[in-house]
Amino acid sequence: MIFPFEIDGESFRWPQVDLKAYNSSGTQSSGMSKQILFDVDENLPVEIRYFEAKAGGYSALELHQHVHGVIILRGKGHALLGSEIQPVKAFDRIFVPPATWHQFYADEGEKLGFICIVKGERDKPARPTQEQITELQKNPAICDYLRY
Ligand code: MN
Repeated sequence: MIFPFEIDGESFRWPQVDLKAYNSSGTQSSGMSKQILFDVDENLPVEIRYFEAKAGGYSALELHQHVHGVIILRGKGHALLGSEIQPVKAFDRIFVPPATWHQFYADEGEKLGFICIVKGERDKPARPTQEQITELQKNPAICDYLRY
């Protein structure tokens, strides 16, 4: 089966799947949308999702035991991985290890879109506590990037 891709206005779309938008800003993520390209299947026990951040948007700052395989599909921006910020651009691949703080930023004036693969059975992401935020903010390499 083939499920075609299209560009809808300025957004990457796979019309056969739902588009879930997270437009609230401030607390968790901002300007993000999500499409589940492949849901968990007994023969393919992973979820393959496409996330797209509007210019200026960002994903939630989070931590969990499961890992992510990420492939940037469009645009450029930055990624927080543990205690570092790295620039990211289309076709870069990023492995997020267990128990590693991570966040993606579309902070280069353009959309940032990426595929994110997770296993089907996984723990829920944890959000930072105020204590953890205080601790993360002590790192000058990342403190200006953190959004929470
Ligand atoms: Mn995550």
